[in-house]
Amino acid sequence: MLDCIVIGSGVAGISAALTLRANGKSFRLFGSPNLSEKIARAERIENYPGLSSVSGAEFVVALKKQLAGAEITVENERINGVFAMGDTVNVALQNGEILTAKTVILACGVESVKQIEGEEKFLGRGVSYCATCDGFLYKDKTIMVVSTSKTFEHEVAYLAGIAKKVWFIPLYKNAEIEAENVEKTVRMPKEIYGEKRVLGVAFEKKGEREEIAVDGVFILKESLPPSALVGGLETAEGHVVVDRQMRTNLKGIFAAGDCTGRPYQYAKATGEGNVAAHYVSAYCAKK
Ligand SMILES: Cc1cc2nc3c(=O)[nH]c(=O)nc-3n(C[C@H](O)[C@H](O)[C@H](O)COP(=O)(O)OP(=O)(O)OC[C@H]3O[C@@H](n4cnc5c(N)ncnc54)[C@H](O)[C@@H]3O)c2cc1C
Repeated sequence: MLDCIVIGSGVAGISAALTLRANGKSFRLFGSPNLSEKIARAERIENYPGLSSVSGAEFVVALKKQLAGAEITVENERINGVFAMGDTVNVALQNGEILTAKTVILACGVESVKQIEGEEKFLGRGVSYCATCDGFLYKDKTIMVVSTSKTFEHEVAYLAGIAKKVWFIPLYKNAEIEAENVEKTVRMPKEIYGEKRVLGVAFEKKGEREEIAVDGVFILKESLPPSALVGGLETAEGHVVVDRQMRTNLKGIFAAGDCTGRPYQYAKATGEGNVAAHYVSAYCAKK
């Protein structure tokens, strides 16, 4: 069985993976091919020890080189759920596979997109973060898909193949979805409303409320709120609550980086990834 699954390929996850490698632990690292949008987008980094002034793009190149040198692969797969099972932790991948490990390190960053009013309230009752998990529930129905990145366009196309009608809201430039049943609209939803389940999405235009009736809303974004990813996880103001060993309230689940709280900084995220990996190693040794 794997010692650890690291979720997130930002500096917190990378730092954890490098330490797990040095400690001889078995692990898999999941994230994105570009490592982290937050690193790639940084114009200039002036406060990271040892790198006097680098662009985010240069930092990504250096990190990729270091990962390759340590023979660590970042697997481009989104994690859709983490389940504490007592002595083990199960992790659900987007492709439907379930992995089991002794521990998990959550290094999934924080959401850069503000939640839509009603998003949390209707999660699991019409709001979904996962096209492949829940898409089949909307066969021949009308849905709305709010997407933060071009990388999710294949998921939008997948949903268009199932639903009768897709209202598509790309929160990025140059969206390219060509399907007869997809209608693109460029505006920010104000509220997801409903009763027991989602009934529609409301927008505001010049002080007037406009509503579009839908059966479901898919929100496709890089980082999920940790509480949506891990059932029963203790959070405070959207951040994972951890102790000095980066342990969460759930056995075998650790967290590091922006997801544990401010300040949102590379040095803090890197340090926490390192600490989490050391205590994961100690936890596995005890077992
Ligand atoms: C424009 C910009 C400039 C910045 N400049 C600086 C700076 O100069 N100095 C500084 O110290 N800090 C800076 N920061 C802050 C810094 O980027 C963050 O503190 C740092 O990236 C946090 O690292 P992290 O590993 O915790 O999270 P992130 O870098 O956000 O990485 C999280 C990773 O988790 C992955 N992920 C999330 N959910 C899942 C999932 N369910 N399944 C699989 N993978 C998942 C994401 O794809 C991503 O790869 C800047 C931030 C921005 C946005």
